[in-house]
Amino acid sequence: MNIDKVVLVYPKRDGKILGKAQGSPYTLMRLASLVPDELPVEIWDEDVAPIPYERITPHTVMGITSKTLSIERAQQIAAATQRRGARVVVGGTHATLAPEEVSTWADITAVGEGYFTWRQILDDIAHDRAQKMYVDESWANLAGVARLTDRVLKMVDEKRDYWTPYMEITRGCPRNCSFCTAIRVSGRIMRHRPVDEVVEEIERRDIKRFFLTDDNFGLNFRTDPTYIEQLFRALRKLPLNGWTNQAEMMVGDFPDLIQLSKEAHMDKFFIGFESVNSGNKRDLGGKAKGNIAEYKRVIKTVQSYGIGVVGLFVFGLEADTPDVFQNTWDFCKESGLDNVSFTIMTPYPGTAARAQYIQEGRLLDVPWSKYDTTHVTFQPASMTADQLREGYDWICRKAYSLPSIATRGVRTLRRHPMRDARRKLFSSFSTDFGYRRTYSYRSA
Ligand code: SF4
Repeated sequence: MNIDKVVLVYPKRDGKILGKAQGSPYTLMRLASLVPDELPVEIWDEDVAPIPYERITPHTVMGITSKTLSIERAQQIAAATQRRGARVVVGGTHATLAPEEVSTWADITAVGEGYFTWRQILDDIAHDRAQKMYVDESWANLAGVARLTDRVLKMVDEKRDYWTPYMEITRGCPRNCSFCTAIRVSGRIMRHRPVDEVVEEIERRDIKRFFLTDDNFGLNFRTDPTYIEQLFRALRKLPLNGWTNQAEMMVGDFPDLIQLSKEAHMDKFFIGFESVNSGNKRDLGGKAKGNIAEYKRVIKTVQSYGIGVVGLFVFGLEADTPDVFQNTWDFCKESGLDNVSFTIMTPYPGTAARAQYIQEGRLLDVPWSKYDTTHVTFQPASMTADQLREGYDWICRKAYSLPSIATRGVRTLRRHPMRDARRKLFSSFSTDFGYRRTYSYRSA
């Protein structure tokens, strides 16, 4: 096939908020950077602009990346593209978790890390030898992988079109939480990008703040402190306004690295406490144990270095009874968390939790679009589905009410010098309003 252009598509989910989409299409930017120079490439982010179907020709190759919750939209885009005679490649989380399902409608399904198969797929299409499915779960070294090209950086206006630039420094997580999809998509081997490549990318993108998409960045404090120290010492020299990452509570055991992270302009840890219920230990793969005294100690320790803590909690784990909502809310108020995120346990394809629910006949019949962590998709073990739904609504209404958001904003402000007030308030409100918006899908 003679390819006239390659188009990479991100199906619509959030749309724009105050004129910008939430986060930059980082995965697509890296995949677009792998397209050989002689082929035109474009990124179509449906959160930023509608898909210009009239520009698709029979010689176009369209790559769609999709999570589970947007896979039905991805399928619609694929069908409209195929009607114009073009070839559709589907990759991303859902294609990796449910490849057989996706391959019933995609021309080509890319399972695992597209960074390592994308070029081959394009080459095979160009030479009319493409296979139906490509699998890469080798969890290869990240050095030199998918370096952002200048043509892609010109194509995506991260400052004009997006509120938050995304960034990746590490991939993978060796833990094994029963509900986790990240380990199926990124593997259980923790891998690092070379520090000089990270610094070079930040400088070339000219970004002053970013959200790290790494599955469990904080675990590296324990597993690879030397790498983390080198990274922080390098980031310390950059003129960053702040960055955030996902971690687990054991970061609180490394005060020297927390201090260094502050010097490296880190703004917040998003910590997966997951549950205040110690009966849920088994579901959490060893990372959190429901010990709320310990949770409070970690929050206090991190905040004492001038870094914020966003607490992440999931409801509907096996030992959760209806009182988990009140207990969690009490903890959130007492602990002084800067922001809170609540999600409903969601049995994504390929997870141990889903396999168990299927075996026990507990899976509810709901479309993938409801797999957004705000809807109940299974029958919980220790309460009814209605109790889970109502308890979740109750705690979200409490946590994301305007007075609660204002209270947390003021509390955060008090811990920082006045010169940082504007930045800290923006950070606090943008996180809380982001979660308030996510919760609003419940009533959609
Ligand atoms: S710690 Fe986080 S990334 Fe690691 S397995 Fe558990 S949920 Fe997944």
